[in-house]
Formats: sequence, C-alpha cells, structure tokens
Amino acid sequence: MEGFKPITHFIKDLYNTSDFIPLHVPKFNGNEKAYLENCIDTTFVSSVGAYVDEFELKIAEVTKTQKAVAVVNGTAGIQVALRLAGVQAGDEVLTQALTFVATANAICYNNAFPVFIDVDLDTMGLSPKAVSEFLSEHAELREDGCYNRSTGRKISACLPMHTFGFPVHLDELIEVCKTWQIPVVEDAAESLGSVYKGKPTGSYGALGVFSFNGNKIATSGGGGAIVSNDIALAELGKYLTTTAKKPHTYEYFHDQLGYNYRMPNINAALACAQLEQLDVFLSEKRSIASAYADFFASEGVKFKTELPETKANYWLMCVELSGKDERDAFLDYTNKSGVMTRPIWQLMFRLPMFKDCQTDSQKNAIFLEERIVNIPSSVR
Ligand SMILES: *Cc1c(COP(=O)(O)O)cnc(C)c1O
Repeated sequence: MEGFKPITHFIKDLYNTSDFIPLHVPKFNGNEKAYLENCIDTTFVSSVGAYVDEFELKIAEVTKTQKAVAVVNGTAGIQVALRLAGVQAGDEVLTQALTFVATANAICYNNAFPVFIDVDLDTMGLSPKAVSEFLSEHAELREDGCYNRSTGRKISACLPMHTFGFPVHLDELIEVCKTWQIPVVEDAAESLGSVYKGKPTGSYGALGVFSFNGNKIATSGGGGAIVSNDIALAELGKYLTTTAKKPHTYEYFHDQLGYNYRMPNINAALACAQLEQLDVFLSEKRSIASAYADFFASEGVKFKTELPETKANYWLMCVELSGKDERDAFLDYTNKSGVMTRPIWQLMFRLPMFKDCQTDSQKNAIFLEERIVNIPSSVR
C-alpha cells in the first residue's frame, strides 16, 4: 500500500492542505451572493425572472447554439430533449452503459428502452464503431426510420455522453447515425466548456443537454439546460417544460402533456454568477490537469488526457490503473489517507432496472469499469 504514498502527498500539496480532500466542490468567488440577494429583494425567487432569461442567453452564447432552455435539472432536460427528438413510448435509444444513471433513467421516463452499446477506450464515451457494428447486425431502415430487427422496435435516438468532459468521436458518430436516420441527442451534462474540432460539445447533435448540479463545473445548485440550433425545436422545449400553456393574459389552456421543469430564478441567479467565472474555472482545471499529468507520468500511472482536435473541460479527472486489484488498493489507500477517490460507475446493465436491456459485447466498457478512478478535481 505504501506505493501510493507519493500520490496522496502530491494531491495534498496540490490543494495545499492536510485536511480531507473531496472529489469535487463548487467555488463561489464572484457575484453569487449579490445575485441571490437581488432575488430576495425583488421577490423574484421562483420559476420566472430576469436571471432565467440571462442564463438562457449566456448558455446559448457559451455553447454556440441558437437557443437554450433552462430546466430544473439535467435529467429532466435529457428526458424532454429525447421527446423533442421524436422518441415515443416503446421506442429504443442507443446509449452507453458506462455512464451516470441519469442517462438511462431519462430514456425510461419516456417509456422507451435503452440499448447499451460499447464505448471507446480513448474517449470513454459511446463508440461510433460499436454503434455502426450493432446497427449493421441488428437494424434495418424502413420508410419511417430505423428499426431493431431483433426486437421490432424503432430506434429513434442515439444518446452519447461525454464522459468527465472528454468529447466522444462526434464526427464519426454523427455520420453513422445519419446513415441510419437516427437523431443524436448529446448528454453533455459533464462537458460544459469542452470543445470538439473547434465547436462546443452539445452543439453537434439535434439537441444537447447540460447539468448545473452542485458537483458540475458550474452550478445553479440544481439545474440544467437544453440547447439546439433548431430554434423551433428549442421553443417547443420551452413550451413543454413550462406546462404547455397557450399564451393568454388570464386564461389557462394547456394543449399537450407538459411538465413543470422550470429552473427557478434563484437557481439561475447562482448559475449566472458561476458562468461569469467559467473561463477562470476552465483554465484552473487545465493547470491542475497539467500538474497531474506530469506527476503521474513520473509515477508510471496513466492519467487520462484530452485527444487531438479536442479540448476537455477536465471536470472530473481520472487515472487508469492496471487492473481491479491495483484499483481497489488505490481506492482503499487514498480514501483512508483523507484523499477522496471513486471508481467509475458500475455499468448500467448491472443495475436491477436495466438488467434485461439489450447490450453488445461491452468489452471496452468492462475494461474501463475495472480500472478508472476519479481523483480530486475541484477548482482551487
Ligand atoms: C450530472 C449528470 C446528469 C444529470 O444531471 P442532474 O442535473 O443531476 O439531473 C446526466 N448525465 C450525466 C452523465 C451526468 O453526469
């Protein structure tokens, strides 16, 4: 176990403390208090307000998309984005098993079925090659789209997730999905500020979804955003997430099953203050990542870094250990030494509610599941 001692020392030096070091905590160094106070003073604490509008404009700007819709959290955002992409009850959605549970839950909230496809070892996100192989083996194109021959269900969306802020191979994935007429919705919950070939993640798919939960790179306390370059689609998203109420001065009429998925102004206020510091957060993350990269290289441990033509936001940083035994020893030693580390998620098909979902080989996902560990990544 002593073998991991230099690592805990390095991390304590990096954060300049001998106290417990959490995995990720938010940093409130800007206008957070002032904006929150303004919400109280004006009584605009709830589901409408100037900060919500400002947040939506700012997110569209940061993600270089035409329109953003503020929502109550990222999970609800994915649920609605899938519906907007055309997912209906009984359909299937292709996604990765190596993800946070929200990705798969959001599919099921639409009464659709997740189909778990393997990830790439380099990006840790959905593999275009695995998607292509799965579709060649199982799918057929019919007049109204792509169908899974083995289940008879329509495959109505593909939901890649940019793991820890490392962009998936978007060009290749979008090409495959185009061939099979499957809309792409990006689960960009972890990748605000990440860039693929010069454009932000979340801006490539028909829709993209971000999370502003307390553990993400910028937080609203709890919150999310749906983005799209299709303004009509985003406007429909706003409509559905605000109870699908026909605009009228005093009458209530709702013409569809909508949701109360609005982001409260008080949360948007926090997010607005956080977004003012996004560039600072991103550059601080890069400097931590670069210090980790140098250190782990000298230790002979593989630290995950961004790929060419991409910029990761380095939201949660991670190392790849040599196998399960070394991983478990690493987790045990670091956590006992007051440095919080955590294994990557268990694959979704291991969870009771997803155990009957269709999967492919999952070769790479299983490899990473046994080796990847997140390390402290907070902005200092
Ligand atoms: C955080 C996260 C979400 C959901 O975000 P919430 O705002 O917590 O609902 C979805 N997908 C992934 C991969 C996430 O990490």
